[in-house]
Amino acid sequence: MNQFSPVSRPNNLDAFWMPFTDNRYYKSHPRLLARAEGMNYYTADGMEVLDGTAGLWCCNAGHGRREITEAIQKQAAVMDFAPTFQLGHPLAFEAAARVADMTPDGMDRVFFTNSGSESADTALKIALAYQKARGQAQRVRLVGRERGYHGVGFGGMSVGGIGGNRKQFGAMLPYVDHLPHTHNLAKNAFTRGLPQHGAELADALEGLVTLHGDTIAAVMVEPMAGSTGVLVPPVGYLQRLRDLCDKHGILLIFDEVITGFGRVGTNFGAERFGVTPDIITMAKGLTNAAVPMGGVAVKNDIYETVVHGSPDGIELFHGYTYSGHPLASAAAIATLDLHRSEDLPGRAKAMEGYFEDAAHSLKGTDKVIDVRNIGLVAGIELTPRAGKPGARAMEVFRTCFDNGVLTRVTGDIIAISPPLIAEKQHIDRIFGTIAEAVKAVD
Ligand code: PMP
Repeated sequence: MNQFSPVSRPNNLDAFWMPFTDNRYYKSHPRLLARAEGMNYYTADGMEVLDGTAGLWCCNAGHGRREITEAIQKQAAVMDFAPTFQLGHPLAFEAAARVADMTPDGMDRVFFTNSGSESADTALKIALAYQKARGQAQRVRLVGRERGYHGVGFGGMSVGGIGGNRKQFGAMLPYVDHLPHTHNLAKNAFTRGLPQHGAELADALEGLVTLHGDTIAAVMVEPMAGSTGVLVPPVGYLQRLRDLCDKHGILLIFDEVITGFGRVGTNFGAERFGVTPDIITMAKGLTNAAVPMGGVAVKNDIYETVVHGSPDGIELFHGYTYSGHPLASAAAIATLDLHRSEDLPGRAKAMEGYFEDAAHSLKGTDKVIDVRNIGLVAGIELTPRAGKPGARAMEVFRTCFDNGVLTRVTGDIIAISPPLIAEKQHIDRIFGTIAEAVKAVD
């Protein structure tokens, strides 16, 4: 048995079972981050690492923002925790109102969670509850998309379209179908912004309706798929999904855990892509990741239907001990204040052209087979190494890190999503370091 030790033991990495990590490799080649400020991380041995990924697509306002940390500290001293089941505290209501100010018009009701995964499962449950409350209880089917990522709960994992994330876990949710993904290297490689080809892939939903009639409750997609390699929606694709959902009484859910809070140059992707869903899920940038928090914003009609469609008493049998946690609410309010005062979405939009040019400067580099981008996100796809998918990109990641730039790898794709406060010099360094690393690896 481990002896309790109140001090950190950096030489003992055994106890922490690291998520989505090759634990055996990592623990023999550890990279420990010790401090973060502005655009940078600093390792335990003092090396500066430029953050090309905003942590995990989440620290959109940059690191160590005093406005946020002070709000958290202040709230911790006043009230550490308060239930939101049949009680409440002002900050949770205030945080929800701030979120509602940023979501599309008519989407003014917000349920709080603690992560993107919980937001996905919450959104699916709300969709099913809504269909039932409006007299459509037969609508029990859910539709996702291949290469969709909606976290790791059973709902999000089932509706998500990553076989690798499901293979260890046996049965998934029943009644789930997937639309085809929109990645098409043959037609869309090196597109800047929205690819021209692929809107018709949304029509697969019509086929599912033919098959299943009026039993589909909701379709959930990321407006731009992030974790599976930055797949920007083809021109017209999201509108086509919207039209088909309207035609067939199906709810449209956008998972905006990555695209929310300025990443694509607007508050939410819905605005950037000009398509309003019925439900938006969010997390990450909501609190700048300083305290875990997620949320689900729904159209007012969904809230009204569920709330007024129920007999007196609890209307939605769902919630988390930490829904609207005081520290998270304080962090969210401070973060959203920063968003407004520093116009972070506007900054991302203003920098997008420069970022796009820098990303596409990798075109022509040996082994780079695609570059795609929108807002301050880019995906750089490499030719896979024969027999070892993902190995080359992982080497690029390690080389970049050792040269002071943090990137993210998913399969053979390097994903870049710096904090929205990035300046030109940061962008130059990120893509310059990647270009060198791609040339250096086999
Ligand atoms: N949905 C999307 C679109 C995501 O990108 C992520 C995380 N990358 C999640 C859900 C899951 O979020 P979390 O890890 O906070 O549970």
